[in-house]
Amino acid sequence: MPNQTKIIATSDRPTSHRLILNCPICQKITEWSPENRFRPFCSERCKLIDLGGVGQ
Ligand SMILES: [Zn+2]
Repeated sequence: MPNQTKIIATSDRPTSHRLILNCPICQKITEWSPENRFRPFCSERCKLIDLGGVGQ
């Protein structure tokens, strides 16, 4: 019986994982972080646009 290869998840990164996403409005690279209170948007402006409050 062959030995099964065990996959060990190595965590060489700090626990503060970063999540990068594109702003749904302007496609700007945005970081999803607790500090970003406009997530998933890049800024308050894009958040307001998504809410339908701003039109061109
Ligand atoms: Zn944006």
